This record gives sequence, structure tokens and C-alpha cells, in this order.
Amino acid sequence: MTVSSMFGSGGSTVGSATIQAPSPGIGETVPYAGGIASSKDQLSGTRKKLIRRSGRDSSQQIRLAVQAFFLVLNLWIGLQFYFFVRWAESGGITPAVPRPAGVEGWLPIEGLMQFKYVVASGALPRLHPAAFFLFTAFALSSLVFRKSFCGWLCPVGTVSEYLWKLGGRIFGRNFRLPPWLDYPLRSLKYLLLSFFVYAVAMMSAAAIADFVASPYGLVVDVRMLNFFRFMGSTTAIVLAALALAALLVRNFWCRYLCPYGALMGLISMFSPFRISRNESACIDCAKCAKACPSVLPVDKLIQIRSAECIGCLECVAVCPAQDALSLNMVGSTGARHRVSAWQLAAGMAIIFFGFVGSAKLTGHWQTQLPQQVVLQLVPAAGEQQHPMTTERTGEER
Ligand code: SF4
Ligand code: SF4
Repeated sequence: MTVSSMFGSGGSTVGSATIQAPSPGIGETVPYAGGIASSKDQLSGTRKKLIRRSGRDSSQQIRLAVQAFFLVLNLWIGLQFYFFVRWAESGGITPAVPRPAGVEGWLPIEGLMQFKYVVASGALPRLHPAAFFLFTAFALSSLVFRKSFCGWLCPVGTVSEYLWKLGGRIFGRNFRLPPWLDYPLRSLKYLLLSFFVYAVAMMSAAAIADFVASPYGLVVDVRMLNFFRFMGSTTAIVLAALALAALLVRNFWCRYLCPYGALMGLISMFSPFRISRNESACIDCAKCAKACPSVLPVDKLIQIRSAECIGCLECVAVCPAQDALSLNMVGSTGARHRVSAWQLAAGMAIIFFGFVGSAKLTGHWQTQLPQQVVLQLVPAAGEQQHPMTTERTGEER
């Protein structure tokens, strides 16, 4: 094996050299010849000692289980919602299927609007309240546990991740865009986010309530489903191009285009936890940087402050050195302030099920609409006009 073969995008530039893989016992100290010596070590001529991690890291198995749970949950919600729409389109002839309120998790802009409504009015929304509870639960998860919504819960993030991993197998590697293209593309998601945040900030609580209660607002979820059900050739080509890009480039959608992820990333910058590297235990092997889905130079930093860190713990999982890398309380590297994958998963579960459970218990989960209204609006979802367009047309008249 050559040293250069060990380094990915985040690694340092080193020449090619043959190394011998160390084969120590657990906890045994060995000179590590496989990494890059830090500049300090190079100057002093010393070589860092590798103290191998004791115990097995199961963070990625735990994360996979959480991702699989949320993927299946979302598929279930999607299927149920599809059959609800089909029931309404049949005029209520086929067996009734209730509308799953969880579909509102797929309406992030409405979630943002409902959040603004609650903050501005001090009241919980009567229509589409689940959008508020889900948005707040995901934002709180990101506030506490980095952008963990993207790395653990979001089904689009999960599909993205397994697409680039598949692409890595097919093409033997993932491609990295050059910095002159990477930086401007990364700002795209913030531009999209600014547009939505500005639009929502400009709306009063009354305007938000009017929008949600309008025929258009009541069927935004159906319109979203129909967008995929009856997609035109342009949409199909765009989706195919995105899927191809997802195969080639790590987290293409999340990294460059997702405004929801951009918002979660900005919120995560206030998280009390960060990936921290203990320089004295680190052997500078750069495995963490190579594994990072967000292409962060983990091996060069002491703490990861970046809004791109999705709290996936992949870097921690691959690190061979004892206590070199962990998710820690800001400013601490001690074991007492460390967060394990179990704790992270349990924390997110408490937040998610806490919000969903309290919404259900207090009767703020389902939107109650008369059946006649549903049977009228859903089949005609495509004909509903955006309230702003209607207002403008009215003004022109
Ligand atoms: S720094 Fe670590 S936790 Fe953050 S995205 Fe990269 S691999 Fe995941
Ligand atoms: S933190 Fe771990 S994986 Fe990263 S360079 Fe140091 S020893 Fe290697």
C-alpha cells in the first residue's frame, strides 16, 4: 500500500512511500509509520505513537438503523398519502384512507411559515399544525446535535449518501469539484434559503393564516405529490441529472442545493457540541478527512465549527487512535463531555417523539376538514391558484 493511496480529498499532499501496517494488540502503543507526521514532528524528527482504540465503534450501525427507520417511515407516509389522494379522487367511493399528517414534514417552507405564525401570534395553527411541530423538532435536533437532521433523519440525505457510496463502488472513486466551482455552488443553497426566509419574513401572522386556509394552501401537499406523479419530461431530465450528480459527487444535493439543509446548518453553528480532535493522541493519518461526507479537513482542525458538519460520526468511526476524535462539548476533549452515538440517537428520538407525541396528545397534529371539502379540493388541486396570484389578478380587474 502506498501512503498516497490512503488520502482522499481532505488529506495532505505526500509522496508515495511503502509502509508496513502496524499489528498491535488492543491498547498497545506502536510507532505509526502510515500517517503524515505533523510539521512539528517533522521538525523534531519524532514520530507519533499510535495507541489503538479499545472497543468496537458501532456508531455507523446505529446511524444506519436510525436512517432505515426514517426512510421506511417516510415511505409509509408517502404510500398512505397516495392512497388518501386516490380515495379523494374517487369521490370517496374506494375505502377511506386517513391523511397522514406526517406528510407536512415534506413541506419545509410551510413549516417555516407556521413557525413564524406561532412566534408572531403566540397561538398554535389549526390547519397543518404538524408542519410546525416537525419543523421545530428538526431545528431543535440541529441546534443540539449539529446538522444531525441531515446525517441521521432526512430520507433525501440518506438516499444521497447511499448513491455516492454506490457511485464510489461503480467508478472506483467520488469526484470532487474544483474550489473555483465548489465555493460558488455551495452558496447556491444559501441564496435559495435567503429567498424563502425573506418571503416568509415579509408575511404577517394574518397573511400566513390566510395562505394556509386558502384552497391552494390546503392542498399544497397534494400538489407536491402530483408534481412527481405527473412529471413532465423536463422534471424527469432534471431528476435524472441530479441522480447522476449524486452518484459522482459526495452529497451533491445536500452540499449545493438544499435550502432546508442550509438552514439546519446555520442553526447547528450554535450547537454546544462539536467534533473535536485531540492533537496529542492524533497520529495525522487523515482517515477522518477521507471518510467525511462533507469533505471537511477534520485532520487539520481542532474543532469542526463548519455549518456543513452533519454529525454523522463517520470520522470518529474510522479514527484508529484512542481518544483522538470525538463529539464533545465545545471547548472540551475530556471523556466526561463526550457524546456517544447512542446518546445522540436517544437525544434525537426524545426530541422527535416528544414533539410528535405532545402534538398528538394535545390535539394539534391532524388537520380536521369536513369530508365534503376534502372531496372537492383534492381532485381539483392542480386548478387552485396561489393566493398571491389571485390577489394580483383581482387588483388588475
Ligand atoms: S466532520 Fe465528522 S461528523 Fe462532521 S460531517 Fe465530517 S465525518 Fe461527519
Ligand atoms: S483524528 Fe484520527 S483519523 Fe483523523 S488524522 Fe487523527 S488519528 Fe487519523
